[in-house]
Amino acid sequence: MSTRVLVTGGAGYIGSHACKALADAGYEPVTYDNMVNGHEELVKWGPLEVGDILDGERLKEVIDKYDPYACMHFAAFALVGESVEDPAKYYRNNVLGTISLLEALREKGINRLIFSSSAAVYGNPVKIPIPDDHPLSPVNPYGETKRVMESVLRDFGAAYGLKSASLRYFNAAGADPDGESGELHHPETHLIPLVLEVAAGKREYITVFGDDYDTPDGTCVRDYIHVTDLADAHVRALERLDEGNVTTAYNLGNGNGFSVLEVIETARKVTGHPIPTEIGPRRAGDPPVLVADSGRIKEELGWVSVYSELETIIEHAWNFFRRDW
Ligand code: UDP
Repeated sequence: MSTRVLVTGGAGYIGSHACKALADAGYEPVTYDNMVNGHEELVKWGPLEVGDILDGERLKEVIDKYDPYACMHFAAFALVGESVEDPAKYYRNNVLGTISLLEALREKGINRLIFSSSAAVYGNPVKIPIPDDHPLSPVNPYGETKRVMESVLRDFGAAYGLKSASLRYFNAAGADPDGESGELHHPETHLIPLVLEVAAGKREYITVFGDDYDTPDGTCVRDYIHVTDLADAHVRALERLDEGNVTTAYNLGNGNGFSVLEVIETARKVTGHPIPTEIGPRRAGDPPVLVADSGRIKEELGWVSVYSELETIIEHAWNFFRRDW
């Protein structure tokens, strides 16, 4: 069996870290990316093939060329606000695109898939920390696209023998500890990189989206998980698929909640910059608290969060941010 893995979205933030983790574990990642949000400079651990997941013919051409034995599927749009404004874009890419990928894989006899899912499948949780058997009730089109695809994977598993693991990410953060990859979103919308832009003098202040939530300091609490820990989980999940017929989904968070103000305070410590804040209105669709119970992936795959300290996560992000200084 080949050791090649087709990595859609391998030129993106999480996908590129997964390529590194795959290469470190002895696999050969082949990046398939339409380069809409991808970065050529992040494709370092294997070839880059430019193509869209909606383009079945191009997908099959690349599969024929490399003969991968499995696929990790990261290619997706992932901004909640944008998904509310332009749901067609999200359903087309995340749902139709994924089905086009699944059909190409099926036609070529590839029956192993690791799928990027999201904590957004839970919507407003009724239990914290959120276990992975918590009801799925997304509150925005982005989360809905992920929930729909989890159902499709389950049905493809039953009907066609597709083995899959959906990994429900909480807040991916940080950067490769060796500085070889990191977050490069344009425009940036995520808290930690925005805070670092303030520390770097590229922005004057950070707006805190609401300080009147029912949380200890009134700001939203999130579970920030180091992207290298996330990447490691993908390799473990892939190896689990070798063991039998599996359709499963795991939460991936580090189990610690940090408020927006705690993130900013930690970033002040890491960067030595005062990082001024301004309190703004709540952002639509933000649940007050999202913290994962990742017990099952720990138990079943032996996964652990190596970089669980928020300070380490922000430090690694900061190092990548300043790489050219
Ligand atoms: N947030 C904020 N100001 C910003 C960006 C984000 O206060 O400029 C808050 C946001 O409301 C959420 C948390 O930071 O509670 C994490 O947001 P992010 O967009 O990084 O990730 P998400 O939770 O949407 O996946």
